Amino acid sequence: MPLYRLKRGFSVYPIIVPTKYSVKSFNFYIVEDGDYLSLIDAGIDSDECWDQFINTLSEIGYTLKDLSQIILTHTHEDHIGLVNRILSLREIPIYAHSKSIPRLKLDKGFQALRIKFYKQLYDEMGCGESGTRQIERLLKGIQDREKYTVHADIIPLSKTDRISGLQVIETPGHAPDHLAFYQAEKKWLFGGDHLIGHISSNAIIEPDLEGKRLLTLKEYIHSLETCQKLDVETVFAGHGRQIFNPKDLITMRINKIHQKSDQIMGLIKRGVSTADQLARTFYKDKYQSQFDLVMSEIIGHVDYLEVLNKINKELKDGVWHYTQA
Ligand SMILES: [Zn+2]
Repeated sequence: MPLYRLKRGFSVYPIIVPTKYSVKSFNFYIVEDGDYLSLIDAGIDSDECWDQFINTLSEIGYTLKDLSQIILTHTHEDHIGLVNRILSLREIPIYAHSKSIPRLKLDKGFQALRIKFYKQLYDEMGCGESGTRQIERLLKGIQDREKYTVHADIIPLSKTDRISGLQVIETPGHAPDHLAFYQAEKKWLFGGDHLIGHISSNAIIEPDLEGKRLLTLKEYIHSLETCQKLDVETVFAGHGRQIFNPKDLITMRINKIHQKSDQIMGLIKRGVSTADQLARTFYKDKYQSQFDLVMSEIIGHVDYLEVLNKINKELKDGVWHYTQA
C-alpha cells in the first residue's frame, strides 16, 4: 500500500531508490492534488529509478499519460535524472526556479562564466595543482551533463507562487536555485536537499548569473531559519528517510555550522591563513578525495566569518590570506 494515501485531496507516493553512497537513497515523489498528478524531482538517470517510477505510477492506478508536470527542487544531476526520458515520451511542463533555467539549458555563456569563476577562485584560494585538476574535472563534467540538457520550456517559480496546492519556498544555500514546497494543511515540506536527516547538506559555492560569488553559507543558514518558522510535521527529503518534526534537527544543523565556523576561526588564529591550507588542515585526507566539496565548505566559512567582521583578508602574490580581525 502506498504511504500517506488520503481518500481525496492531497496525496504523496514516495519513490525511494536505495544506493550504496552516503546519501543512502535517491528520493522523488509523485503527488496527487485532486487536479494534477505531479512529479517532484526525477531521481537519477538509471533503469532502476525508471522502473520504480513506472511501477509506483501503476500501483496507484496511473500511467505516464496521466502525469501532468514535473516540479524541481534544484538541478543537481541526482534530482533531474529521468526528466529527459519522461519528456521523450510525454510533453509536459517543467517547473523550476528561474535560476535553474541556464543550468537545465546548459547555457554556453553561463558554463563559460562558471569555469572562469572556479578557475579564479581556486587560484585566489591558493589551491595550485589541485585547483587545476578540479577545473579539468569540471570541463569533463560539462560534456557528461550534455545528456541532461532540457530542450523543453521551463516555467519559472518564485517565492510568491503556489503550484498544485504547494507553496513555493525559496531555499538557496545547497544550490542557488533551490526550492522547497510546503503543503500547509498537511504540514508537509518537500525539502529536496535543503534538509537531510542522516547527513548535513553542503552549501556549495557557486557564482550568481553575473559571475559574482554568492554568500552560500549565509544564505543556507537564512533558508534553514525560514523553514524553522514553518509549521512542518513531515519533511519529504531528497535522500534518506523522511524527517518528522524537523525543528530540533534544524537547530542542530545551525549549531553545527557555528561550531565549525569557530573551529576554522581557531585555525586562522593559529596562523593557518589561506583557504587551501585551512582545507588541508581541517579535512586531511578528504582534501584530495573530495576536493570540490571541501574547498566549498572552507570558502563558505571564511566568507561567512568575513561578513561577521571576524577576519580580515589580504591579497599576497595573488592568494588571499586571512587573519583575525
Ligand atoms: Zn543537491
